[in-house]
Amino acid sequence: MEVADRVYRFGSRLVNWFVIEDAGRLTLIDAGMPGHWPQLLVALRRLGARLDAVDAIVLTHSHADHVGFAERARTQTPATVRIHEADSGSASRKIPPLHLFWRPTSWPLLAESLRSGLLATPKVESMVRFGDGDVLNVPGRPRVVHLPGHTAGSCALVLDDRGVAFTGDSLVTLDPFTAATGPRLMLSGVNEDTEEARRSLSRLAETGVDTVLPGHGEPWRGGAAAAVDHALNSPARCADARGPRRGGARYAGRRCSTSPAVTATVPPSSTRTISAPSTRTAVATPVTVSPARRVTITGRPRVVQRAR
Ligand SMILES: [Zn+2]
Repeated sequence: MEVADRVYRFGSRLVNWFVIEDAGRLTLIDAGMPGHWPQLLVALRRLGARLDAVDAIVLTHSHADHVGFAERARTQTPATVRIHEADSGSASRKIPPLHLFWRPTSWPLLAESLRSGLLATPKVESMVRFGDGDVLNVPGRPRVVHLPGHTAGSCALVLDDRGVAFTGDSLVTLDPFTAATGPRLMLSGVNEDTEEARRSLSRLAETGVDTVLPGHGEPWRGGAAAAVDHALNSPARCADARGPRRGGARYAGRRCSTSPAVTATVPPSSTRTISAPSTRTAVATPVTVSPARRVTITGRPRVVQRAR
């Protein structure tokens, strides 16, 4: 399905990966889960292309639900696999620990993970590293915007001429652990550093793109700045605050925490109450805006309305 100019979305209801077409050559953004491989063959057939048209697989980060079939594609096409240098080490196939799946809302993801071979995601044996600000010499020429937080090497890949940013899990429109929708950070226990992930969002807002294509959830066409505004006002819930391991979760090495204040630069707005109609629980967070357009969010989200 074409979701932007010569950009095609694949994967499942829960996990996205994308194909960029440029003059008959292809770049993949992420590689889903290992079981998504047949989709690539179908995609190529539809595009009238063959496996040797794939020049690159660019990973938004190193988690297994994005690394997926990358190694298979690397060995069966001319493609190189590319990833930010901070995610290029042993972290190339992280799998979420089972305790994150205590919520029934996460069970569809668990089922798909088991069905699609997530636990057996092959390690990518050879990767090309990139850094912040690089414009990759691959079809579509994506520009790297480093957004550390979800992982140390998480990045958005931006197609400036098409007004598109692929955000991986730095900003999603569906959290597959909680089933919450709308622009947001992932569940905080899934992030290496949720506060850093929040701070990174200002860099995404600055891209000015119209279309945000996340690793999970539907495309967002309201602009990057508005997506960031929504995400900053959606709570990144602690993975197991009410679960079997009260007091903190560890996924990628850091504790789940809620700090008293974080800041990020977003478009002009005013003090307001934010409601999130697409989620089961609407929240309000005190927001103050200084003349420098620096938003400070203080305190824990307060439940003001509970939808049935
Ligand atoms: Zn993911």
